[in-house]
Order: sequence, then structure tokens, then C-alpha cells
Amino acid sequence: MCDNCKALKRDSRFLNGRRYRIHRVNLYRVYKEQIITIRLCHVCAIELFKRGEMSFLSRNRPLLRSIDRFKQPEKDLGIEW
Ligand SMILES: [Zn+2]
Repeated sequence: MCDNCKALKRDSRFLNGRRYRIHRVNLYRVYKEQIITIRLCHVCAIELFKRGEMSFLSRNRPLLRSIDRFKQPEKDLGIEW
């Protein structure tokens, strides 16, 4: 399941149709000196590629919140709100 679609509560299988596929993607700029690996569907992976990491995360705040909840305390966030 796509982590971004899950955070946005949308059906990634319906969104992707026949192109449904899960990509493992590394995020480098969420935390300082730590790489976060998330799973994205084809549509979300394309959006990440087109926008870039910071823009993608700022437009998908629920994903950022779900990463934050499981990984690190808030003080280590390398992103400006
Ligand atoms: Zn997705």
C-alpha cells in the first residue's frame, strides 16, 4: 500500500488502475543525517519526481505527519512549516 495514499485516505489501486505498482523511495531531506524509506504508488512517485521532495512533502502534510509519528521527535525535522 502507498504510504501517501494511506495518509490521504484514498484508494491507491483505484487511482492507479492498471499501472498499480509500489515503489520504495528514499527521502533525504526530512531529517538531518537520516534517510527515510517510504512506499509510493506509481502516481505518487511521479508527483514526487516532478515536484521534488520538499514541495511534495509540503503539499502532502498528512504523509509528513505519519512519518513524524513513527520515526523521530519533532525537533529533528529538517523542514520548515
Ligand atoms: Zn499513492
